[in-house]
Amino acid sequence: MTRCSSLPLAVRCPASLAAEIAIDPYSDDAERGTNIHRAIALAARGKQIPPLEDDEEVLVSAALMMLEDTDFKGTRYIEQSFQAGELSGTIDLLEIDYDRALVQDWKSGWGDKEYEAQMMGYAWLVFQKYPDLEEVMIRVVRLQLQKMDVKVVSRAYAESWYEELVRNTLHNTKTFSPGGHCDKCPRQAECPALAAQNRQMALMLFEGEQALTRKTVPELWYRVAAAQKVLDYFHAWTRNQVSAHGPIDMGNGKQLALITTHRTKIDASKTWPFMEEALTPNEVAACVTIKKTDLEEALKAHAPKGKKGETVKAFFEKLAAAGATAKEPFQMLREVNANTGANNE
Ligand code: SF4
Repeated sequence: MTRCSSLPLAVRCPASLAAEIAIDPYSDDAERGTNIHRAIALAARGKQIPPLEDDEEVLVSAALMMLEDTDFKGTRYIEQSFQAGELSGTIDLLEIDYDRALVQDWKSGWGDKEYEAQMMGYAWLVFQKYPDLEEVMIRVVRLQLQKMDVKVVSRAYAESWYEELVRNTLHNTKTFSPGGHCDKCPRQAECPALAAQNRQMALMLFEGEQALTRKTVPELWYRVAAAQKVLDYFHAWTRNQVSAHGPIDMGNGKQLALITTHRTKIDASKTWPFMEEALTPNEVAACVTIKKTDLEEALKAHAPKGKKGETVKAFFEKLAAAGATAKEPFQMLREVNANTGANNE
């Protein structure tokens, strides 16, 4: 049984469905998405929602407003699970209105764009459950952009999509297609195609300058990003092992150990009066760095309930009016849309 949420990756690389050792590719974004989904589902059922971060609250409010933006008058189901044929899935919002249905999914990340296969899977499951349905409206609500993508599919279209999915993807799990999507794959730990590609990448990188040209960058970019994640994982895992079970013998007369070094930590509140005594205000300021996120957190801790965002905004407006803040340009290496230059579309 394949979950519809696995389909976006599976249609890119059918072999991703055949993991023997599955690693759940955890990410902060995924956890945030889960929190937001849970809150929307609770609110839609009229239940109390747990405290959320301010930015999460904004997305949940946007979702609740859009929840009412429908002309479907039938029965509404929230987070309903379905299973049929070789698919299963849980649909965020389903509304059945005589011979038509609305299938809606919330997307809370900037990068949530490749949902076509997942949504078609949901539509197909709904057609199986309700034989009188003639059409299903698929609606994806992209909360960050406050935008909905809508598509209406007929029963015949959904059936032919499913046949093709079974043939080309679900029954074709020996076909590997490595790429940037590998870092989301549960099979990345034991994937022979990814391993072969990483070996080839390592060879190219070790060749150095001769192998690196502007033309090789697109080929290497995603592989290096995926390899970086593996390296970070390896480093964190090894550190945890040494921390929990002691040094590891390296077999060359050395061992890998956690060593303790010391750096001077300055207590800001105790140091402050001495600095004021010894330095001018400008010299004191030059020694201090104020982190925007720390300042925001401190302001939020003082803010009345439900007014955190407002308090932070008002404070930063005062700083801007006093000339205390300035936007300084800095450059990041990012993939952007080749036509619009946007990095969040
Ligand atoms: S790691 Fe990449 S190539 Fe291997 S199965 Fe997953 S998506 Fe396919």
